[in-house]
Amino acid sequence: MHMKNRIVDGQFEVADWRRHLHQNPELLYDVHNTARFVAEKLSAFGCDMIETGIGKTGVVAVIKGTLGDGPVVGLRADMDALPIVESSGKPWTSKMIGRSHSCGHDGHMAMLLGAARYLAETRNFRGSVVLIFQPAEEGGAGALAMIEDGLMEKFMIEQVYGMHNEPKLPIGHFAIRKGAILAAADTFKITIQGRGSHAGLPHLSIDPVVVASHVVVALQSIVSRETDPLQAVVITIASINGGDANNVIPSTVRLTGTVRTLRTDLRDFAEQRLGEVARSIANAHGAKADVSYNRGYPATVNHGNETDLAAQVATSIVGPAAVSIGVDPRMAAEDFSYMLEARPGAFIIIGNGDTAGLHNSDYDFNDDAIPYGISYWVALAETALAA
Ligand SMILES: [Zn+2]
Ligand SMILES: [Zn+2]
Repeated sequence: MHMKNRIVDGQFEVADWRRHLHQNPELLYDVHNTARFVAEKLSAFGCDMIETGIGKTGVVAVIKGTLGDGPVVGLRADMDALPIVESSGKPWTSKMIGRSHSCGHDGHMAMLLGAARYLAETRNFRGSVVLIFQPAEEGGAGALAMIEDGLMEKFMIEQVYGMHNEPKLPIGHFAIRKGAILAAADTFKITIQGRGSHAGLPHLSIDPVVVASHVVVALQSIVSRETDPLQAVVITIASINGGDANNVIPSTVRLTGTVRTLRTDLRDFAEQRLGEVARSIANAHGAKADVSYNRGYPATVNHGNETDLAAQVATSIVGPAAVSIGVDPRMAAEDFSYMLEARPGAFIIIGNGDTAGLHNSDYDFNDDAIPYGISYWVALAETALAA
């Protein structure tokens, strides 16, 4: 049977897997039932080598081609859900209170499983495909845990590819770019130490609320006045906490937020200036600022040749009009970035159609994307590993 027909015919069963995974979401590394489901499917498809427990709860399987020796290509999906109460109203709504697949990792798993079934059956390529199912994408750096557990060396992976769905991008569309496609995401905490007093006697205080207000305003000029306007940097102060009475000046105020960048030099610069500005402003008011800056996921940087290959493969499936090449980067972050630091590869965005946004309680992965996602994985493997 023609590849396309076979994938289209199989999509309803894949959608059933997706809905099963959707109803049973698990968080971070605690994806035991999900990993078991994935490993059982891979085993039923006849994959050559299935290993569980890589990077705590990651699952890896190998499919060898029948056209001779060749390179090893890794294809990656993520398995974890989010601590969000789902309100999609779908019949397959999460059965786990307070958890849902609001980032569509259920769809990512289902599409990679669909591709695995096809590739294990046909094996129309040389070398090997390594299927990577990782835990803890949502803040736990599961990709890094798998790499540190020897993923790349053990399976001799030479190139690695990832995919994420995106709401509002139409079904059957893909988007990709060379270089940074997603941002580095860091977090910070600033504690302003002042001196508390009676609210009617401000001269006896060093008011950390006023100091924090100056710090919030001053931090805005790092992006607007100190960095190249054509280079993306985000500094967001997302929370301010201090005081709880209307007649007391508190002694401390805490600010937290995030810094997003696409380039390493700007990441270093933002970290340095955030600390300098906060401390200097606090000093100017006789207060003190303690700044702790935590580096999160690095930017997801696509490699040149692999991005060309991914774009060519996507174009072969949906035609040039449905593949946006050279799109603007997104300021979200992904721990697939660690895999692209370890091996050359590319991360592509697949359309989820007109749905609620990622991490929104109304979000649900769109099953209409399934045949496109499976076709992309299959064609990518068969093209990268063509005889
Ligand atoms: Zn997410
Ligand atoms: Zn995600």
